[in-house]
Order: sequence, then C-alpha cells, then structure tokens
Amino acid sequence: MTTPLTAISGIQQTRAKQLEALGVRCVEDLITLYPRGYEFRANVKRICEITGADITAQTAITLIGTISDVKSKYIRSNLTITSMRLSDMTGSVVITMFNQVYNVKKLYPNQKIAVFGNVTQGVYSLEMNNPAFTINPDNDRDFFEIKPIYPLSAGLSQNMMRKFIKNAFAITKAPKENLPSDIIEKRRFPSRKTALINIHFPKNEADICAARKRLVYEELFIIQLMLMLIKTDKKAADGAISFANSDNGIIDKFIRSLPFELTAGQRKVWQDIIIDMNSTKAMNRLVLGDVGSGKTVVAVLAMLKAILCGYTAVFMAPTEILARQHYSNINKMLDNITMPGGDKIKITLLTGSLPLKEKRQALEEIKQGFSHIIIGTHALIQAGVTFRRPGIVITDEQHRFGVKQREILQNSDDNISPDVLVMSATPIPRTLALVLYGDLDISTLKGKPSQRKPVITLVRQSDARENIYKWATDQITRKNAQVYIVHPLIEQGESDMLSVEENYKKMTTDANSPFVEKKISTGLVHGKMSAKDKASVMEDFVNGKTSVLFSTTVIEVGVDVPKATIMIIENAERFGLAQLHQLRGRVGRGADQSYCVLVTRASDGPRMKIMEQSNDGFEISEKDLELRGPGDFFGTQQSGLPPFKIANLYSDTDILKEAQQDALLLEKNISEYDDYIKYIKSIIPSKISL
Ligand code: ADP
Ligand code: MG
Repeated sequence: MTTPLTAISGIQQTRAKQLEALGVRCVEDLITLYPRGYEFRANVKRICEITGADITAQTAITLIGTISDVKSKYIRSNLTITSMRLSDMTGSVVITMFNQVYNVKKLYPNQKIAVFGNVTQGVYSLEMNNPAFTINPDNDRDFFEIKPIYPLSAGLSQNMMRKFIKNAFAITKAPKENLPSDIIEKRRFPSRKTALINIHFPKNEADICAARKRLVYEELFIIQLMLMLIKTDKKAADGAISFANSDNGIIDKFIRSLPFELTAGQRKVWQDIIIDMNSTKAMNRLVLGDVGSGKTVVAVLAMLKAILCGYTAVFMAPTEILARQHYSNINKMLDNITMPGGDKIKITLLTGSLPLKEKRQALEEIKQGFSHIIIGTHALIQAGVTFRRPGIVITDEQHRFGVKQREILQNSDDNISPDVLVMSATPIPRTLALVLYGDLDISTLKGKPSQRKPVITLVRQSDARENIYKWATDQITRKNAQVYIVHPLIEQGESDMLSVEENYKKMTTDANSPFVEKKISTGLVHGKMSAKDKASVMEDFVNGKTSVLFSTTVIEVGVDVPKATIMIIENAERFGLAQLHQLRGRVGRGADQSYCVLVTRASDGPRMKIMEQSNDGFEISEKDLELRGPGDFFGTQQSGLPPFKIANLYSDTDILKEAQQDALLLEKNISEYDDYIKYIKSIIPSKISL
C-alpha cells in the first residue's frame, strides 16, 4: 500500500535514512509531515518601521534595499563570514552571512536585494544574521511566497524538505478522503487533497487556517471513533464473568463494618461497578476521583464481590510504598470479614523488593490459588507469575498498564477475561478524558468524605522559611504532628533551587535549626535511593517513628499518614498545579486541621493564588491549563495513544468538542456508515490495542 521514499525524485538511501529519523518511512508519511510553522515573507517593512516588538518577539521580517560595503572574511576552512550594509530610503541594517560563498559571489555594490530574517539590535546599528535572500526582488515571486517550516533531522535543510514534499505530491495520486462526506459538508471543510496541499503550499493565511482546522479535526475525529469502536467491541464480546451470584450479605456486612458511611459519590460509583460486574460483558471502567475522595474502599468492594464468586482479585499500584500501604490497610479493612465457608480472606503482597524467600512463597500462594486478593507493583506482570482464575484486575493511580494487562490473561491457566477497573486521581476535564480514556467507561467519583476539614493552603516567600520551620516544630512538639517537606530537586545544581539533600543536611546539622534544637527525628527519601531504602524510610514515617520527612515528589501518590498534617513545598513555583494538588492530598487525611505551605518566589502570584482558593482538583487543572497554555500537561505519552501529528489536545479543545459530537452522532447511526466503519477498523494501529 505504501510507496517507498526513494520513489521521490531527489531522495536516495542517505536522505531516506535522514527522513526516517523524523519518523517518515514512506511517501504517505512525508505528505502528512506537517509544518511546525511558516515564514510570512510578503510582510515587507521599511527599515524605519522596525519596532522594538519585532526585535524582542523575534518576528522575522522582509526588507528590500541596496547593498554596500560587501566584505568576505575567511576564518577557517569551514567558516567564511560575509558582511554588508543594506539601506533603503529610511535607514540601514548590517547583514552578516555565514558560508554563503557561492551565493555571495552574485552580489555587487548598489545591487537591490530582499532579505528575510530576524532583526537584532547591535551596538552601532540594527543587524540581521544569515537571512534568506534574493538578488532579484522584482521578479522572484517564489521568494515572497509563504514558506513552511518543517521539523528537521541532521543533514536535512528546510529547502530540501520543501523540495522533497513538492516532489512527493508529484508522484502521489489524489490522497484518499478519510472523512464521511456529510461531515465535510456540515463542517464546510476543504477536501483532504486541498487541505494537504494548502498546509504545505498555502497562498495566504486563510488557506492555512482552513487546512489546519480540517486536518486537526480529522485526526481527533478518527482517534475518537477508533476508541469508541474498540470500546463497543469489548462490550459486545460476551464470555466475561458474571459476578451476579456474590453473597450480598457479606458485602453488606463489610460496608457496615467500615468506621464510616460511604459517601453518596462512592455509592453511585459502586452501583456503576455492580452493573458492570453482574453482566457477562467485560468491565472496562475508569474511576476518576480527586485525591482523598475514597477510591480505595470502592476498589475493595469490587474485589470482595469477585472473590465471593470464587475468583482472584488483582490490585496493582504504581509504587512499592503504595502497594505496601494498600496491603496493610486492606488487611485491616477485611480483618473481620470471612468467606462463605468461614475461611479468612487471604491477601498476598508481591513487590520487586520482597526478600527472595518471601517472594517465592508469594508466587507459590498465587500459583496454587491460595490467595483471594493479590496486591503488588509491576512485579505482578513479570514473568513467573501465574494467576488462578483472575476475575478482576484493578490498577490504582492512573497507571495504565495497557497492553500488559493482556499478559496477565495469557499467564492465567484458565482462559477467562477478567473485569478491568482503573482508578485515577488525575483531574482532567471531561472532553480530554473522553480521548485519553476513550476506550473505557468513565465513572466520576464526586465529593469527599465530609468529616474532613479542607487543607488550609498558605503561600509564603522563601525569606519566611525560618519562621515556617519554627512553626512546624511547634506543631510537632505540641500536637504530635508530622511534617512533609517536599523539594523539586535531589542534589544541588547550579540553579538557586533548594535541593532535598542540601536542605536535609542543613536542617539536621545546623545548630540554629529548630529540628536540631528540639531533637526532632527526621527522614530523607528521594528517587535515587533503592526501593528497599525508600520503603524503610517511608515506613518509619508512616509508623510515626520520624516526625519530619524531607522528600522529593516520590511521595506523590496515594500514601496515607493521618498524623501528617503539615506539608511544606519548597520552590512551589516549579511544580504544575495539578501536581501541587496531588501532593497536597497527602495531608488532611486525619481529623486534625491540616496545612499546606507553598514556599515560592514573588513572581508566581496568580498560579499560587489558585491553590490558596481552591481544593477541587478539576477546577485547579482547568485554571492551570488556561494559565499555562498547551503542553503535554497530563502526559499523553502515558495514555497509550499514538502521538498526534497536528492536533494539540489542549489548545484545540473547540475542534475536539466538534469531533466528539460528530463521532457520537455517527456511532448512533452507525448502520448508515458501514463502509466508513470498515475503513476505520482497517486503520486502527496496534498501539491502541489497550
Ligand atoms: P483516594 O481516593 O485518594 O485513593 P483513599 O481511598 O486513600 O483516597 O481514602 C482517603 C482516606 O479517606 C482514607 O483514610 C479512607 O479510610 C478515608 N475514607 C474513605 N471513604 C470514606 C468515607 N466515606 N468517610 C470517611 N472517610 C473515608
Ligand atoms: Mg488512592
């Protein structure tokens, strides 16, 4: 189906390799290698019209004038510098060119030329370095056309890319339309062919806009539709386990045994899960709930339901610390609950850092089917683990094990497909969730346990640090509080940020430190320590042996220490708001009032203000998005989706909404689109087989 790159005139093996470095493997890839920007060369300015803004914003501009003082200087074998002065009626600019020996030969004094480049302010005059130029400004129409700017790899230049793409179109038959005609009509899109030509060779800005809109739409629409189809397919497949016969008396007993009432949000999500689990279709559900909304209990309910039907439940956490904590909490939660036969519920922990003997025993328990519930980390999906009758696989905290979940099935000796539940605290707007998790049903866990006091967040300048630490010490000695101090860095670099090692050293040795003075016990944890060391430092903190934990963001997810009521975040401006919110979720887990102190520089007012004002992760993430603009904010890489070629999930939300509406509509009337659906199914990449 695809045409090799070498079919394009001008491309031999070497160039093909260089293009491959850009992910371009065939002619079709090259045609959809979209420009990352454009040069607008028709924007000719007189020299007196150059503004300070042109200089600071580095807007490239076109100047036309006559040249004088052309001088070439040979510096060394691969460096020749040519300088000249370009003047128009209103002023002059010094032009410098590097290694343009061949082209420079065509220049002579008083010649009229046009140049295109960035203007900078030199000591004596305005300057322009290495501009594109033409010696024939009156007739060279090509020079003034809009020029696409492509991503490059070593060895390639913009001119080569432009030529290759032009030549690629010469040998390509009309690119195939890939949107249904009624949508093209409804959205007034150009055809795919027109859009592709205009994105590469636009005549004006309107061309670019229309082409880009269509191509972005096409990309988002197709991915959304693919995900919907994958989801429908999964749902249509019968043969998953029905857990309808679970002993509800025992589940009720468990709910009654909890030291709290389930929140309305927890009950609602539990209802969604019950419906999924009772049906013979496989559950593929994402529970989206802010930190502290109580996702763990919901997971335990689902696991209990599965094991009561004679299946095993698997619970995967992203870190050792979290897996251990879940293990100990869930053991406690289920301590008084017995299986219908009177057996205790057997829970097995499997993580990478278990001593060999314990690991062997855990593996044996799992293999023999002695364990009802298996809790662990990635170690669970590594070789050597054979599950008996896995009925439900739950992954905690946004880790999408994706394809790997399949391996579990292959490892199991019975050929049954387990229900899948994903728990995430990543607060994302619904439109984005629909794409990033488009293959899953989504339940939003709203609200938080009401007896909790919201964390009080305070923003303070770094010169207040001494007072903050004194206040924290006071809370430790008087109220037995525990304190996290979070840092953006492990070791001190050249930046002026405070590293965790530096701060730890200072605060535990300096005689002026309140921690030293009051003999406060401290711990240090960061990502460069071994898993075992990390776990033991964490455990000391969880058990209350240490009162202050100096850390990096390794404590980010899930850890629950009720006595920890203070979190101090150093260089808070270095973190994204969604991340600050997740970190803050580590405190405020007990009955006492908790505090989060953001130690920051004066410059980051508006973002920090949001943190002071809101405790709602979803609200915070939307505001942060508005302030920070596009970027890989929520980690699309993690989503398992193929990278987008042109669409930007964050700045193209309007187009995304249209594409989602249309995809939903199409799905409703799917019988009218037989051929189109067949086509979409034929192009589903293997990457999104989640
Ligand atoms: P997350 O959603 O962040 O994973 P957890 O499940 O860890 O939250 O719950 C956080 C804390 O709230 C735990 O200490 C848990 O025992 C408690 N909790 C959960 N549900 C309730 C509830 N309905 N009422 C009171 N406390 C609850
Ligand atoms: Mg959790």
